[in-house]
Amino acid sequence: MANQSVLENAQFNYERAARLLEGEIDPLLLDKMRHPKERIEISLTPQLHDGKAHFFDAFVVRHSIALGPAKGGIRIRPAMTLDDITGLAMEMTWKCALIGVPFGGGKSGIVADPEQFSAYDKETLIRSFARNAVRHISPLVYVPAPDMGTNERDMGYIKDTLSWSAGHATTMGCYVTGKPVILGGIPGRREATGRGVTVCVIEALAQIGRTVEGAGAILQGFGNVGSVTAKSLAERGARILGVADLHGAVYNERGLDVLALEAHAAKAGTVKGFPEASAIDRGELLEVPCDVLIPAAAESQITAQNAPRVSARLIAEGANGPTTPKADEILAARGIPIIPDILCNAGGVFVSYLEYTQETQQEQMSESEVRTRLQQRITERFHQVRLLAERRKISMRDAAMLHAVKTVAQALEARGQLP
Ligand code: GLU
Repeated sequence: MANQSVLENAQFNYERAARLLEGEIDPLLLDKMRHPKERIEISLTPQLHDGKAHFFDAFVVRHSIALGPAKGGIRIRPAMTLDDITGLAMEMTWKCALIGVPFGGGKSGIVADPEQFSAYDKETLIRSFARNAVRHISPLVYVPAPDMGTNERDMGYIKDTLSWSAGHATTMGCYVTGKPVILGGIPGRREATGRGVTVCVIEALAQIGRTVEGAGAILQGFGNVGSVTAKSLAERGARILGVADLHGAVYNERGLDVLALEAHAAKAGTVKGFPEASAIDRGELLEVPCDVLIPAAAESQITAQNAPRVSARLIAEGANGPTTPKADEILAARGIPIIPDILCNAGGVFVSYLEYTQETQQEQMSESEVRTRLQQRITERFHQVRLLAERRKISMRDAAMLHAVKTVAQALEARGQLP
């Protein structure tokens, strides 16, 4: 059976939560949450280095604005549809509600291959997006952040384009998060998602009677989320047994030297060929026995096909939507717990919120303050979700969804019925 799309998976998870909440929430509110608020398609025609105009499709989706302005990253990927962005925006609605920040859910995307661009062309493309989406980006409407294919630098270009278009040196309030610190970004935002994953992993290991010292971890993805997670887990004594990226995978049962691997990947553009490890098939790595498997790359990576062979004691979803609903079912039957994405990778958007408040109030926060608040919030929500899962005898994904959907419903209820 073909895997379902990102949107279908997001809808599936939502419908499960909606069923569990039947009788508790007004069906009209459940229906409101089912439907995305706004889906925008934009056509970009930047003039690139060759002097010619090139066409790119771009999307901005605001799934919900019940709790506040839509929040969520901007991704650049070669194959992506408005529906994919809608599914991801829906996930952001639940993530923001669960982690307790006053944001709705949004996402944006540009259909292009980020690896094909020179630095000049990438900057031109991002600026073209910011100019064309100017009506849709504001602290009160939608606030983008880094996601797949975009980084801190790109967020700086977005801020610059928006302030420059208005003839100002800066923006009034926070239009984009994950910016360079020198432009009003917050220290520790880049590391936030990975650090949040690590907090979840440590708490989840404790639940199965394991400490992080000596625990064996396998990661899929060595980008911003994967590499920071690997480093912070290794700092706490975990053994990083294997790492996969788009080009290949490496394995060392004694544990990889993560800093050396990072230096290798920075030079080679991939973990492949790292000398202090053996090469392994990317798919096979996901099935190697370990304490924790961390899919931190793309969606739909753990599927009905490989779930029966996953040999991890738990799964921590660093990426958005890496486990399909079918795989969820198989893993549940096999007793392998999953820390769901909307909890596990929520550290990023939580620290985006700190950046938003810092900029709004024209304050400055130190990195240690950011780290402490991140650690506290993720730990608190992890245990809230765990307790709810235990009480209702449901998975952590269902418990996280239940909490999130209820929170958004409360906001809708408080806003009243008139549009
Ligand atoms: N792109 C990240 C996510 O999927 C961060 C979003 C944000 O900070 O707005 O959670």
